[in-house]
Amino acid sequence: MRDFAAELRQRRSQGLERQRRLLASPQRPHATVDGRAVLAFCSNDYLGMANHPVLQAALIQALPEAGLGGGASHLICGHHQSHHQLEERLAAFTQRSAALYFSTGYMANLGVISALAGRGDTIFSDRLNHASIIDGCILSRARVRRYPHADMAALAAMLAETDGHKLVVTDGVFSMDGDVAPLAALAQLCRTHDALLVVDDAHGLGVLGPQGRGSVAAAGLSEQDVPLIVGTLGKAIGTSGAFVAGPQLLIDYLVQKARTYIYTTAMPPALASATCASLDIVEAEDARRTCLQALVQRFRQEAAAMGYELMPSDTPIQPILVGSNEAATALSDSLIAQGILVSAIRPPTVPEGEARLRVTFSAAHTEADLDRLLTALRHARAALAA
Ligand SMILES: *Cc1c(COP(=O)(O)O)cnc(C)c1O
Repeated sequence: MRDFAAELRQRRSQGLERQRRLLASPQRPHATVDGRAVLAFCSNDYLGMANHPVLQAALIQALPEAGLGGGASHLICGHHQSHHQLEERLAAFTQRSAALYFSTGYMANLGVISALAGRGDTIFSDRLNHASIIDGCILSRARVRRYPHADMAALAAMLAETDGHKLVVTDGVFSMDGDVAPLAALAQLCRTHDALLVVDDAHGLGVLGPQGRGSVAAAGLSEQDVPLIVGTLGKAIGTSGAFVAGPQLLIDYLVQKARTYIYTTAMPPALASATCASLDIVEAEDARRTCLQALVQRFRQEAAAMGYELMPSDTPIQPILVGSNEAATALSDSLIAQGILVSAIRPPTVPEGEARLRVTFSAAHTEADLDRLLTALRHARAALAA
């Protein structure tokens, strides 16, 4: 048998062991983590919706009417009218013809990619795409060609030399870098080379574009340009679950073919009702996005002035590039000692030598919260340089 213990020891000695911190409060900036009060800058609750009282009330109200347990898969007898209403709401929100509700974004990517490409086809995937896209590509059994991050010339060359069915898949907002994919150029290339484009907008949905419709809407692109959008509901939308939205034909096809949709129990129907309530607020309340943008811009200005290396991102994902695993851990340890929680991201989540602190902002953060983060970063820099 393999020496699992030795593998764990090696991980630890390389500074790569991951810890699960124990959360004892709702998900919010001022949280209780591992028994102590911290100010957290690491959740994906970008709009501060995760504990919104209106969503909680919607869930409680829907529970007796719609029920808790999903009970069965959608194609057996689990497809509740609450799920169906949410799908219609998601199609309207993303300005697509139809939508299909999945239990997680991970499952959505696995199901969509493996249904829409198979043996003999070719998938083109950005090098920095999320793990669930990478796994979806493997599951599909298609040939996979990874192109250098956002490199449209490289992708064009790969597309030109490939025959047969082609699928191009990209994150809308890259989860560890915070930059936005060159969506207009991707749409143009896909049109030229008759490739199907899928954009995973896990971090753009709710945050970018008019009414928070996401990175694709922010780029002014329609269903003709970007046929399929995958979105998760557990980040800015504040609940749980995910979806794919696009042309009716492709959604009908996925109902028949997406195995992670077909062979899994439907989500709690009441949760779908809470998600609908969230979409109403996310769409209406531009103030949440304005507040988020103000925090992001002030952070960038002041952290850069301290000498921290930031990345070209205007989204709530603001990585501080550190380099070595040890330096990333030292910085995050210094912050935690000051009561600030920011996660250190290390390989294999990011490339070797590009360890970073992934600072994420939420509309639930105040200017005073940002003051505390900046003060802690200033102290950390002084302490670690000494
Ligand atoms: C978080 C994330 C997912 C997975 O979504 P879940 O609903 O959390 O499973 C997929 N893609 C990207 C880019 C993500 O950041």
